[in-house]
Amino acid sequence: SSGRDAVLRTEDLRKTFGGLTATDDVTMEVERGTITGMIGPNGAGKSTFFNLVSGFYQPDGGKVLVNGEETTDMEPHEVTEHGLVRTFQTPRKLEGMTVREAMLVGPQNQLGESVVPLFTQPGAVETEERRNLERAEELLERFEIARLADQPATDISGGQLKLVELARAMLAEPDVLLLDEPVAGVNPTLANKLKAIIRELNEDGITFLIIEHDMGFIMDLADPIVVLNQGAVLMEGTPEAVRSDDRVVEAYLGG
Ligand code: ADP
Ligand code: MG
Repeated sequence: SSGRDAVLRTEDLRKTFGGLTATDDVTMEVERGTITGMIGPNGAGKSTFFNLVSGFYQPDGGKVLVNGEETTDMEPHEVTEHGLVRTFQTPRKLEGMTVREAMLVGPQNQLGESVVPLFTQPGAVETEERRNLERAEELLERFEIARLADQPATDISGGQLKLVELARAMLAEPDVLLLDEPVAGVNPTLANKLKAIIRELNEDGITFLIIEHDMGFIMDLADPIVVLNQGAVLMEGTPEAVRSDDRVVEAYLGG
């Protein structure tokens, strides 16, 4: 251990799919308070790494520690309870839900199922559930998507959906939030808004680990940046160091 305050740490984390090593003994840390970027060419193992540390995949070797506690063998909802929450590269199916409902029904926390009855039987809810609903409304306001709350979730743009997903993740009160390609397919105006929101949440104390293909976005937002290549950490450094590293250029050009 390095003595840094790591909100997330992996030790020799490993995942294979048949003959393919998607995660090749990855030892890395995300320091508390940072916005850490994760980049690397397609197939480098970025999403697999997220799936491993969030409990969606079981590793073939190594350890995951969240807030200093080992979470390696935990289910996603248990990892969430330890403070790590993630969003998905591909949005979930949201048919038949309003934006508000989509925000409250999450695959990784138990919150959704208990909050949904609020809409049908408001008298029957607990104080804590009411508090969650209030927080949901606050987040919708804060992200300036409150006007969309009653719209069908399938009617909003991809960019707006990213904001809903971020708001949903925030409901779980994460210490560290993992975002998988938050601006993929998002227009520049919304991408800038997302950047501002991430910075604001970071100032409030949320640590971020962000996978992003948009180099302008991630170089502007994140420090440090971890570069994955063929399942392994190629380097970690400041945006400037990463940008000028020959190995990184080669990894992208070499495919
Ligand atoms: P990235 O997110 O960096 O583009 P991924 O983590 O999605 O990369 O994929 C890394 C490698 O692992 C790729 O070769 C991919 O095809 C493979 N892979 C990822 N998930 C699975 C899976 N569930 N089954 C088989 N192979 C997978
Ligand atoms: Mg990916």
